[in-house]
Amino acid sequence: MSTMNLVLMGLPGAGKGTQAQLIVKDFDIPHISTGDIFRAAIKNQTPMGVEAKKFIDKGELVPDEVTNGIVQERLAQNDTKDGFMLDGFPRNLVQADALNAMLVDSDRQLDAVINIHVRPEVLVERLSGRFICRNCGATYHRLYNPTKVEGTCDVCGGHDFYQRDDDKPETVKNRLDVNIKLNTPLIDFYKKQGVLYTIDGEQDIDKVYQAVKEVLTNL
Ligand SMILES: [Zn+2]
Repeated sequence: MSTMNLVLMGLPGAGKGTQAQLIVKDFDIPHISTGDIFRAAIKNQTPMGVEAKKFIDKGELVPDEVTNGIVQERLAQNDTKDGFMLDGFPRNLVQADALNAMLVDSDRQLDAVINIHVRPEVLVERLSGRFICRNCGATYHRLYNPTKVEGTCDVCGGHDFYQRDDDKPETVKNRLDVNIKLNTPLIDFYKKQGVLYTIDGEQDIDKVYQAVKEVLTNL
């Protein structure tokens, strides 16, 4: 194995962040998340960072060519020579084509796209489980942190709970739909390219990671 050039994909709630941390720790490659590199590019006033800031200041979406430029600046840095893991990029086919082109330009290739797959209905359960006691503000989660007695707040004994708008199943479903629409063509694209590895993200975290690790050690 000479390089490990990776893209990590997964819908909100699929556990991508946890897997990202485990991967970069074990395989010693830089974790390139778009949020982080945008902040860094703007702070360091790189040419593309300056460009991106113009759009952000106007409250506009940063165009693909600027996003691509920021990723290209990051991939030109020396620490990516033996590998990298992109997280949050590419978001669409224009960006995916640009990534292929920038890798070809620098004599590199994408070795694997790891897609942590969890069924949308399971994601809705994970992401919409949070509820709050109206009396004392204690927060709970139906799956991860339920009340000891159903319908009764552990802290104050109250019985009246509510959900934040962001945590309501309808809101969560809409957010997932937007992401599914973006992800589906990318998954097809990388499947055709022969680099897609789909990992069952509904298992325990350590089982998910074992499956990821098996793919990566056999590249
Ligand atoms: Zn309470």
